[in-house]
Amino acid sequence: MIQGKGTMNVIEIQGANKTYKRWRKPPEHAVRGLNLEVQAGGVFGFLGPNGSGKTTTIRLLLGLAKPDSGNLKLFGRSVPHDLPAVIGRVGSLVETPLFFPTFTGRQNLTLLAQASGIPRSRVDEILGLVELSGRADDRVKGYSLGMKQRLGIAAALLKRPELLILDEPGNGLDAAGIREIRQLISDLGASGVTVLLSSHQLSEVQQVCDRVAIMSRGQVIAAGSVSELLAAGSSGDVRIRLHDGERGREVLQHHGFTVTSEEDSLRIGRVDDPSRVTRVLSEAGLYLSELTPISTDLESVFLQITGTEPGAPHHAADLVSGADAPEKEAGR
Ligand code: ATP
Repeated sequence: MIQGKGTMNVIEIQGANKTYKRWRKPPEHAVRGLNLEVQAGGVFGFLGPNGSGKTTTIRLLLGLAKPDSGNLKLFGRSVPHDLPAVIGRVGSLVETPLFFPTFTGRQNLTLLAQASGIPRSRVDEILGLVELSGRADDRVKGYSLGMKQRLGIAAALLKRPELLILDEPGNGLDAAGIREIRQLISDLGASGVTVLLSSHQLSEVQQVCDRVAIMSRGQVIAAGSVSELLAAGSSGDVRIRLHDGERGREVLQHHGFTVTSEEDSLRIGRVDDPSRVTRVLSEAGLYLSELTPISTDLESVFLQITGTEPGAPHHAADLVSGADAPEKEAGR
């Protein structure tokens, strides 16, 4: 991972392992030799299919589970040993938050604030930030799941954390709920909070993240800025439109291009130099009305690296033991 001079790693994990013992079943190696660095500021996407080890990693960071081996640090301090010194700088939403359903959103937050010595004025401020001011005096049992998630984020933000860890905050939300949460997360990242956002919806969250790490079977298999990963995973295919598509296809194939006809366009595979396409066609008296690089997304990048769809069942126990390298798992 690239790390600029003077930037601080809010999270650092080196060689973390976590195995769950299970009754009458082989142990589950949920995290295997995991390395991760998250710099201060912005939204960091911690992505991977269900069961790839994201929640376990977050639990290790928050001291909710103990690693078998490896070094974990928050703000440069060892976890779990020095956690009490830094936990006040970390807010988290790891499971669906528990609130008193018959109390209002404001009452729930006020109770939490009182318990931590946080002034009441912060409750109003935070309700505004998560856009719940209008519903703050309604009982929580009448809230939608999206509102409950926003209340959960509000609770995590009460103490003004420098690092906010959100585990799948979009789970169970409809498209509108996901958009609202996404906007809130994006605003928080822009305001200087470091947000670690875990999600199995790779394409969904790529819009909100500056940098990402993609997990597969307990390991980080790719990490970097979203644009770096997309560029690395780009197929290099382009789509063109021209008046005489049939003739265009013949000419391009004659010059060695791989061409597939689409509804009203042609797709050309692995084009290193798009100007060659334009030149070859114009030399044959054919002119393009459009030439567009075909964009990729993080799901395709994941597919390329692992040979499996992110949605495919992804359980650590499926692995052949000892398979430590993030090797291509073709055909799985
Ligand atoms: P999800 O989004 O579904 O929670 P995840 O990427 O967060 O997925 P984990 O929850 O960390 O993944 O799970 C990683 C693996 O460890 C899975 O195979 C899961 O079944 C297993 N696992 C998690 N917690 C336990 C536990 N307490 N006991 C046994 N196995 C566990």
